[in-house]
Amino acid sequence: MTDQSDSSRPPIRYYPDDPLALNPNLEDVEAPDPLTDRPRVRVVDTTGALPPPRHYEPGTRAFLDWQLEEALHRGVVRWRSLLPEFTAWQGGRSTLEAVADEGVDLNAFYDRRALHFFHRDDPQLGRRVWSGESPDVACHEEGHAVLDALRPDLWDAASFEVAAFHEAFGDISALLVVLDDENVRRSLLEQTSGTLRKSNDVSRLAEELGRAARDLFGPSVAPPGCLRDAANAFTYRPPAELPTDAPASHLSREPHSFSRVFTGAFYDTFAALASFPAGVPDSDSIVRASSLLGSSLARAVRRASLESRWMRAVGEAWVVELAFDPAAAGVVRLALERRRIAPGGPSEAEAPHWDEHGSFVGDLRALGRLREPGLAWPGPGTRATHEWRIRHGAPRLRRLRVA
Ligand SMILES: [Zn+2]
Repeated sequence: MTDQSDSSRPPIRYYPDDPLALNPNLEDVEAPDPLTDRPRVRVVDTTGALPPPRHYEPGTRAFLDWQLEEALHRGVVRWRSLLPEFTAWQGGRSTLEAVADEGVDLNAFYDRRALHFFHRDDPQLGRRVWSGESPDVACHEEGHAVLDALRPDLWDAASFEVAAFHEAFGDISALLVVLDDENVRRSLLEQTSGTLRKSNDVSRLAEELGRAARDLFGPSVAPPGCLRDAANAFTYRPPAELPTDAPASHLSREPHSFSRVFTGAFYDTFAALASFPAGVPDSDSIVRASSLLGSSLARAVRRASLESRWMRAVGEAWVVELAFDPAAAGVVRLALERRRIAPGGPSEAEAPHWDEHGSFVGDLRALGRLREPGLAWPGPGTRATHEWRIRHGAPRLRRLRVA
Protein backbone atom coordinates (compact mmCIF):
# COMPACT_ATOMS: atom_id res chain seq x y z
CA MET A 1 0.00 0.00 0.00
CA THR A 2 1.06 3.54 -0.66
CA ASP A 3 1.82 5.64 2.35
CA GLN A 4 -0.75 8.43 2.01
CA SER A 5 1.21 10.78 4.21
CA ASP A 6 4.00 10.87 1.62
CA SER A 7 1.73 12.29 -1.03
CA SER A 8 -0.41 14.65 1.05
CA ARG A 9 -0.04 18.33 0.35
CA PRO A 10 -0.83 21.23 2.65
CA PRO A 11 -4.30 22.77 2.32
CA ILE A 12 -5.00 26.07 0.59
CA ARG A 13 -8.18 28.10 0.36
CA TYR A 14 -9.85 28.25 -3.02
CA TYR A 15 -12.78 30.00 -4.72
CA PRO A 16 -14.29 27.28 -6.98
CA ASP A 17 -16.30 29.97 -8.79
CA ASP A 18 -15.87 33.71 -9.20
CA PRO A 19 -15.21 35.54 -5.90
CA LEU A 20 -18.47 37.48 -6.36
CA ALA A 21 -20.57 34.39 -7.08
CA LEU A 22 -23.07 34.02 -4.27
CA ASN A 23 -22.26 30.39 -3.52
CA PRO A 24 -20.31 28.37 -2.74
CA ASN A 25 -17.70 30.34 -0.94
CA LEU A 26 -14.13 29.39 -0.11
CA GLU A 27 -13.16 25.73 -0.03
CA ASP A 28 -10.25 24.06 1.71
CA VAL A 29 -8.43 21.98 -0.88
CA GLU A 30 -5.11 20.21 -1.08
CA ALA A 31 -2.51 22.44 -2.71
CA PRO A 32 -2.02 21.39 -6.33
CA ASP A 33 1.24 19.91 -7.49
CA PRO A 34 1.34 21.14 -11.10
CA LEU A 35 4.69 19.44 -11.67
CA THR A 36 2.66 16.30 -12.25
CA ASP A 37 0.54 17.93 -15.00
CA ARG A 38 1.23 17.25 -18.68
CA PRO A 39 1.02 19.82 -20.07
CA ARG A 40 1.39 22.15 -17.14
CA VAL A 41 0.91 25.80 -16.30
CA ARG A 42 3.51 27.46 -14.11
CA VAL A 43 2.30 30.47 -12.17
CA VAL A 44 5.05 33.04 -11.81
CA ASP A 45 5.31 35.91 -9.42
CA THR A 46 7.26 39.06 -10.17
CA THR A 47 9.68 37.89 -7.52
CA GLY A 48 10.02 34.43 -9.03
CA ALA A 49 9.10 31.51 -6.82
CA LEU A 50 5.67 31.24 -5.23
CA PRO A 51 5.25 31.43 -1.46
CA PRO A 52 4.77 28.04 0.23
CA PRO A 53 1.18 26.72 0.04
CA ARG A 54 -0.84 27.76 3.08
CA HIS A 55 -4.18 29.16 4.21
CA TYR A 56 -3.71 32.71 2.96
CA GLU A 57 -6.27 35.47 3.30
CA PRO A 58 -8.21 36.39 0.14
CA GLY A 59 -7.02 39.74 -1.14
CA THR A 60 -3.35 38.96 -0.51
CA ARG A 61 -0.80 38.25 -3.22
CA ALA A 62 -0.01 34.84 -1.78
CA PHE A 63 -3.69 33.88 -1.91
CA LEU A 64 -3.87 35.06 -5.53
CA ASP A 65 -0.87 32.92 -6.52
CA TRP A 66 -2.33 29.71 -5.12
CA GLN A 67 -5.88 30.49 -6.24
CA LEU A 68 -4.58 30.91 -9.80
CA GLU A 69 -2.40 27.82 -9.56
CA GLU A 70 -5.34 25.69 -8.46
CA ALA A 71 -7.73 27.09 -11.12
CA LEU A 72 -5.27 26.49 -13.96
CA HIS A 73 -4.36 23.05 -12.60
CA ARG A 74 -8.05 22.16 -12.56
CA GLY A 75 -8.28 23.40 -16.14
CA VAL A 76 -5.48 21.14 -17.33
CA VAL A 77 -6.93 18.15 -15.49
CA ARG A 78 -10.38 18.84 -16.92
CA TRP A 79 -9.23 19.19 -20.52
CA ARG A 80 -6.98 16.15 -20.25
CA SER A 81 -9.95 14.11 -19.05
CA LEU A 82 -12.09 15.38 -21.93
CA LEU A 83 -9.42 14.98 -24.59
CA PRO A 84 -6.53 12.71 -23.53
CA GLU A 85 -4.64 13.58 -26.73
CA PHE A 86 -4.18 17.10 -25.35
CA THR A 87 -0.62 16.71 -24.05
CA ALA A 88 1.18 19.89 -25.13
CA TRP A 89 0.61 23.59 -25.59
CA GLN A 90 0.90 25.34 -28.94
CA GLY A 91 4.29 24.69 -30.50
CA GLY A 92 4.67 21.39 -28.66
CA ARG A 93 5.60 23.06 -25.38
CA SER A 94 5.05 21.20 -22.13
CA THR A 95 4.91 24.30 -19.91
CA LEU A 96 3.00 27.57 -20.22
CA GLU A 97 3.67 30.41 -17.80
CA ALA A 98 0.94 32.42 -16.09
CA VAL A 99 1.92 35.82 -14.72
CA ALA A 100 -0.29 36.38 -11.68
CA ASP A 101 -0.11 40.18 -11.67
CA GLU A 102 1.46 42.33 -14.36
CA GLY A 103 0.25 45.65 -13.00
CA VAL A 104 -2.72 47.98 -13.15
CA ASP A 105 -5.39 46.99 -15.67
CA LEU A 106 -8.84 45.48 -15.63
CA ASN A 107 -7.91 42.71 -17.99
CA ALA A 108 -6.32 39.35 -18.74
CA PHE A 109 -5.00 37.84 -21.95
CA TYR A 110 -3.16 34.98 -23.63
CA ASP A 111 -0.53 35.79 -26.24
CA ARG A 112 1.16 32.44 -26.89
CA ARG A 113 4.04 33.37 -24.62
CA ALA A 114 2.02 33.26 -21.40
CA LEU A 115 -1.26 33.90 -19.65
CA HIS A 116 -1.30 37.43 -18.28
CA PHE A 117 -3.34 38.77 -15.36
CA PHE A 118 -3.66 42.21 -13.75
CA HIS A 119 -5.28 44.12 -10.90
CA ARG A 120 -7.30 47.27 -10.49
CA ASP A 121 -8.86 48.93 -7.46
CA ASP A 122 -12.61 49.42 -7.48
CA PRO A 123 -13.50 52.17 -4.98
CA GLN A 124 -17.22 51.35 -5.12
CA LEU A 125 -16.58 47.71 -4.37
CA GLY A 126 -14.05 48.82 -1.79
CA ARG A 127 -11.37 46.41 -2.79
CA ARG A 128 -8.70 45.42 -5.28
CA VAL A 129 -9.91 43.24 -8.15
CA TRP A 130 -7.32 40.69 -9.31
CA SER A 131 -8.35 39.21 -12.65
CA GLY A 132 -6.40 36.03 -11.82
CA GLU A 133 -8.45 35.47 -8.68
CA SER A 134 -11.53 34.41 -10.67
CA PRO A 135 -11.60 30.84 -12.03
CA ASP A 136 -13.93 32.18 -14.74
CA VAL A 137 -11.23 34.53 -15.98
CA ALA A 138 -8.28 32.20 -15.41
CA CYS A 139 -9.93 29.29 -17.20
CA HIS A 140 -11.18 31.54 -19.99
CA GLU A 141 -7.60 32.54 -20.78
CA GLU A 142 -6.42 28.97 -20.37
CA GLY A 143 -9.20 27.96 -22.79
CA HIS A 144 -7.60 30.20 -25.44
CA ALA A 145 -4.36 28.33 -24.90
CA VAL A 146 -6.09 24.93 -25.10
CA LEU A 147 -7.80 25.90 -28.36
CA ASP A 148 -4.51 27.26 -29.69
CA ALA A 149 -2.93 23.88 -28.94
CA LEU A 150 -5.74 22.02 -30.71
CA ARG A 151 -6.03 24.36 -33.68
CA PRO A 152 -3.06 26.73 -34.04
CA ASP A 153 -4.33 27.74 -37.48
CA LEU A 154 -7.24 29.58 -35.86
CA TRP A 155 -4.90 32.01 -34.17
CA ASP A 156 -4.11 34.10 -37.22
CA ALA A 157 -7.35 33.49 -39.06
CA ALA A 158 -8.72 36.87 -40.12
CA SER A 159 -12.36 36.16 -39.37
CA PHE A 160 -14.82 37.68 -36.97
CA GLU A 161 -16.40 34.27 -36.49
CA VAL A 162 -13.16 32.55 -35.64
CA ALA A 163 -12.16 35.33 -33.25
CA ALA A 164 -15.59 35.15 -31.59
CA PHE A 165 -15.36 31.36 -31.36
CA HIS A 166 -12.00 31.70 -29.62
CA GLU A 167 -13.76 33.81 -26.99
CA ALA A 168 -16.67 31.37 -26.74
CA PHE A 169 -14.27 28.45 -26.26
CA GLY A 170 -12.65 30.38 -23.40
CA ASP A 171 -16.00 30.90 -21.70
CA ILE A 172 -16.99 27.27 -22.31
CA SER A 173 -13.68 26.22 -20.78
CA ALA A 174 -14.54 28.24 -17.67
CA LEU A 175 -17.98 26.63 -17.49
CA LEU A 176 -16.55 23.13 -17.79
CA VAL A 177 -13.95 23.66 -15.07
CA VAL A 178 -16.29 25.35 -12.61
CA LEU A 179 -18.97 22.68 -13.15
CA ASP A 180 -16.41 20.03 -12.22
CA ASP A 181 -16.63 21.14 -8.58
CA GLU A 182 -19.18 19.20 -6.56
CA ASN A 183 -20.01 22.12 -4.25
CA VAL A 184 -20.68 24.32 -7.25
CA ARG A 185 -23.04 21.73 -8.74
CA ARG A 186 -24.93 21.43 -5.46
CA SER A 187 -25.23 25.20 -5.23
CA LEU A 188 -26.32 25.44 -8.87
CA LEU A 189 -29.14 22.94 -8.31
CA GLU A 190 -30.32 24.80 -5.22
CA GLN A 191 -30.13 28.21 -6.83
CA THR A 192 -32.01 27.27 -10.00
CA SER A 193 -34.37 24.71 -8.42
CA GLY A 194 -33.26 22.49 -11.27
CA THR A 195 -34.11 24.94 -14.06
CA LEU A 196 -30.60 25.35 -15.36
CA ARG A 197 -31.47 27.66 -18.23
CA LYS A 198 -32.20 30.47 -15.80
CA SER A 199 -29.26 32.82 -15.30
CA ASN A 200 -27.24 31.63 -12.33
CA ASP A 201 -23.86 31.76 -10.62
CA VAL A 202 -22.35 29.32 -13.12
CA SER A 203 -23.82 30.83 -16.29
CA ARG A 204 -22.75 34.31 -15.17
CA LEU A 205 -19.07 34.66 -16.02
CA ALA A 206 -16.50 36.92 -14.41
CA GLU A 207 -18.90 38.50 -11.93
CA GLU A 208 -16.24 40.52 -10.14
CA LEU A 209 -14.55 41.83 -13.28
CA GLY A 210 -17.95 42.71 -14.72
CA ARG A 211 -18.90 44.55 -11.54
CA ALA A 212 -15.66 46.54 -11.58
CA ALA A 213 -16.08 47.30 -15.28
CA ARG A 214 -19.53 48.74 -14.65
CA ASP A 215 -18.30 50.69 -11.66
CA LEU A 216 -15.34 52.16 -13.54
CA PHE A 217 -16.62 52.49 -17.12
CA GLY A 218 -20.40 52.63 -16.87
CA PRO A 219 -23.37 50.27 -17.27
CA SER A 220 -23.05 49.79 -21.04
CA VAL A 221 -19.86 47.68 -20.83
CA ALA A 222 -21.31 44.70 -18.98
CA PRO A 223 -24.70 43.34 -17.94
CA PRO A 224 -25.62 43.62 -14.25
CA GLY A 225 -23.94 40.91 -12.22
CA CYS A 226 -21.26 39.63 -14.60
CA LEU A 227 -19.10 40.29 -17.64
CA ARG A 228 -20.99 37.83 -19.87
CA ASP A 229 -23.85 35.42 -19.26
CA ALA A 230 -23.97 32.02 -20.99
CA ALA A 231 -27.71 31.93 -20.30
CA ASN A 232 -28.53 34.45 -22.99
CA ALA A 233 -30.86 34.76 -25.99
CA PHE A 234 -28.51 36.11 -28.69
CA THR A 235 -28.96 34.57 -32.13
CA TYR A 236 -26.55 34.41 -35.04
CA ARG A 237 -26.39 37.05 -37.72
CA PRO A 238 -23.63 37.30 -40.33
CA PRO A 239 -20.98 39.51 -38.75
CA ALA A 240 -20.99 41.80 -41.78
CA GLU A 241 -24.55 42.75 -40.80
CA LEU A 242 -23.61 43.56 -37.19
CA PRO A 243 -22.25 46.85 -35.87
CA THR A 244 -18.55 46.95 -35.06
CA ASP A 245 -19.38 47.70 -31.44
CA ALA A 246 -22.44 47.95 -29.24
CA PRO A 247 -23.49 48.14 -25.58
CA ALA A 248 -23.35 44.79 -23.79
CA SER A 249 -27.13 44.49 -24.10
CA HIS A 250 -26.83 44.18 -27.90
CA LEU A 251 -24.89 41.97 -30.27
CA SER A 252 -21.96 43.35 -32.24
CA ARG A 253 -19.24 41.68 -34.28
CA GLU A 254 -16.65 42.53 -31.66
CA PRO A 255 -15.44 39.01 -30.77
CA HIS A 256 -16.41 39.02 -27.08
CA SER A 257 -19.87 40.30 -27.90
CA PHE A 258 -20.38 37.95 -30.85
CA SER A 259 -19.02 34.97 -28.87
CA ARG A 260 -22.18 34.96 -26.75
CA VAL A 261 -24.13 33.32 -29.59
CA PHE A 262 -22.04 30.14 -29.55
CA THR A 263 -21.58 30.12 -25.77
CA GLY A 264 -25.33 30.44 -25.48
CA ALA A 265 -25.88 27.48 -27.82
CA PHE A 266 -23.46 25.40 -25.76
CA TYR A 267 -25.22 26.35 -22.56
CA ASP A 268 -28.64 25.52 -24.08
CA THR A 269 -27.47 22.01 -24.89
CA PHE A 270 -25.91 21.58 -21.47
CA ALA A 271 -29.08 22.66 -19.66
CA ALA A 272 -31.22 20.34 -21.77
CA LEU A 273 -28.97 17.29 -21.60
CA ALA A 274 -28.37 17.66 -17.87
CA SER A 275 -32.14 17.28 -17.42
CA PHE A 276 -32.19 14.09 -19.48
CA PRO A 277 -33.57 11.47 -19.10
CA ALA A 278 -35.16 12.01 -15.67
CA GLY A 279 -36.53 15.46 -16.52
CA VAL A 280 -34.70 17.10 -13.64
CA PRO A 281 -30.95 17.52 -13.34
CA ASP A 282 -28.82 16.17 -10.52
CA SER A 283 -25.12 16.34 -9.80
CA ASP A 284 -24.34 13.19 -11.80
CA SER A 285 -26.35 14.27 -14.83
CA ILE A 286 -24.53 17.62 -14.80
CA VAL A 287 -21.20 15.80 -14.88
CA ARG A 288 -22.35 13.51 -17.68
CA ALA A 289 -23.80 16.30 -19.81
CA SER A 290 -20.88 18.70 -19.42
CA SER A 291 -18.32 15.96 -20.07
CA LEU A 292 -20.11 14.64 -23.14
CA LEU A 293 -20.51 18.12 -24.61
CA GLY A 294 -17.02 19.33 -23.74
CA SER A 295 -15.35 16.23 -25.11
CA SER A 296 -17.38 16.14 -28.32
CA LEU A 297 -16.93 19.85 -28.93
CA ALA A 298 -13.15 19.58 -28.52
CA ARG A 299 -13.07 16.73 -31.04
CA ALA A 300 -15.31 18.68 -33.40
CA VAL A 301 -12.97 21.66 -33.22
CA ARG A 302 -10.10 19.43 -34.27
CA ARG A 303 -11.91 18.04 -37.31
CA ALA A 304 -13.84 21.09 -38.58
CA SER A 305 -12.45 22.67 -41.73
CA LEU A 306 -11.48 26.30 -41.47
CA GLU A 307 -13.99 28.34 -43.42
CA SER A 308 -15.75 31.66 -43.21
CA ARG A 309 -18.91 30.20 -41.62
CA TRP A 310 -16.75 28.68 -38.90
CA MET A 311 -19.44 28.41 -36.21
CA ARG A 312 -21.61 26.39 -38.57
CA ALA A 313 -18.64 24.23 -39.58
CA VAL A 314 -17.90 23.45 -35.93
CA GLY A 315 -21.57 22.78 -35.33
CA GLU A 316 -21.74 20.28 -38.20
CA ALA A 317 -18.63 18.51 -36.90
CA TRP A 318 -20.06 18.54 -33.37
CA VAL A 319 -23.22 16.73 -34.48
CA VAL A 320 -21.11 14.18 -36.37
CA GLU A 321 -19.01 13.59 -33.25
CA LEU A 322 -22.20 12.81 -31.33
CA ALA A 323 -23.54 10.37 -33.91
CA PHE A 324 -23.21 7.57 -31.36
CA ASP A 325 -25.74 9.36 -29.16
CA PRO A 326 -28.69 10.45 -31.35
CA ALA A 327 -30.52 12.24 -28.55
CA ALA A 328 -27.48 14.38 -27.69
CA ALA A 329 -26.81 15.02 -31.38
CA GLY A 330 -30.41 16.09 -31.79
CA VAL A 331 -30.25 18.50 -28.86
CA VAL A 332 -27.07 20.08 -30.22
CA ARG A 333 -28.62 20.40 -33.67
CA LEU A 334 -31.75 21.96 -32.26
CA ALA A 335 -29.79 24.47 -30.19
CA LEU A 336 -27.66 25.46 -33.19
CA GLU A 337 -30.73 25.87 -35.35
CA ARG A 338 -32.57 27.91 -32.77
CA ARG A 339 -29.53 30.14 -32.41
CA ARG A 340 -29.52 30.45 -36.22
CA ILE A 341 -25.93 29.16 -36.29
CA ALA A 342 -27.23 26.31 -38.44
CA PRO A 343 -29.88 26.82 -41.08
CA GLY A 344 -33.22 25.09 -41.21
CA GLY A 345 -34.65 23.26 -38.30
CA PRO A 346 -37.88 21.54 -37.49
CA SER A 347 -41.04 23.57 -37.53
CA GLU A 348 -42.24 25.03 -34.29
CA ALA A 349 -45.08 22.51 -34.27
CA GLU A 350 -43.04 19.35 -34.68
CA ALA A 351 -39.98 20.20 -32.67
CA PRO A 352 -39.45 19.57 -29.01
CA HIS A 353 -38.63 22.92 -27.51
CA TRP A 354 -37.80 24.82 -24.36
CA ASP A 355 -40.62 26.67 -22.70
CA GLU A 356 -40.26 30.13 -21.18
CA HIS A 357 -39.13 28.66 -17.87
CA GLY A 358 -36.37 26.68 -19.52
CA SER A 359 -38.03 23.29 -19.22
CA PHE A 360 -37.83 20.94 -22.14
CA VAL A 361 -41.20 20.21 -23.79
CA GLY A 362 -41.56 17.13 -25.97
CA ASP A 363 -39.86 13.78 -26.34
CA LEU A 364 -36.14 14.42 -26.31
CA ARG A 365 -35.49 10.98 -27.75
CA ALA A 366 -37.41 12.00 -30.85
CA LEU A 367 -34.77 14.59 -31.58
CA GLY A 368 -32.29 12.04 -32.80
CA ARG A 369 -34.81 10.76 -35.31
CA LEU A 370 -35.62 14.11 -36.86
CA ARG A 371 -32.62 13.80 -39.12
CA GLU A 372 -29.65 11.58 -39.59
CA PRO A 373 -26.66 13.27 -37.98
CA GLY A 374 -24.41 15.14 -40.35
CA LEU A 375 -26.59 14.81 -43.43
CA ALA A 376 -29.16 17.51 -43.57
CA TRP A 377 -27.41 20.83 -43.55
CA PRO A 378 -26.46 22.65 -46.71
CA GLY A 379 -22.79 22.76 -47.64
CA PRO A 380 -20.42 25.30 -46.17
CA GLY A 381 -20.67 28.91 -47.25
CA THR A 382 -18.43 30.50 -49.82
CA ARG A 383 -14.91 30.91 -48.59
CA ALA A 384 -12.96 34.12 -48.66
CA THR A 385 -15.84 36.50 -48.08
CA HIS A 386 -15.12 40.12 -47.42
CA GLU A 387 -14.91 39.65 -43.65
CA TRP A 388 -12.52 36.76 -44.14
CA ARG A 389 -9.92 39.04 -45.61
CA ILE A 390 -10.02 41.76 -43.01
CA ARG A 391 -6.79 41.68 -41.07
CA HIS A 392 -6.70 42.40 -37.39
CA GLY A 393 -3.85 44.37 -35.92
CA ALA A 394 -0.78 42.40 -34.86
CA PRO A 395 0.07 40.95 -32.47
CA ARG A 396 -3.31 39.40 -31.86
CA LEU A 397 -4.07 39.47 -28.18
CA ARG A 398 -6.91 37.39 -26.86
CA ARG A 399 -8.30 39.83 -24.39
CA LEU A 400 -11.05 39.43 -21.90
CA ARG A 401 -12.45 42.69 -23.09
CA VAL A 402 -14.06 45.00 -20.62
CA ALA A 403 -13.87 48.38 -22.34
ZN1 LIG B 1 -10.66 35.96 -24.34
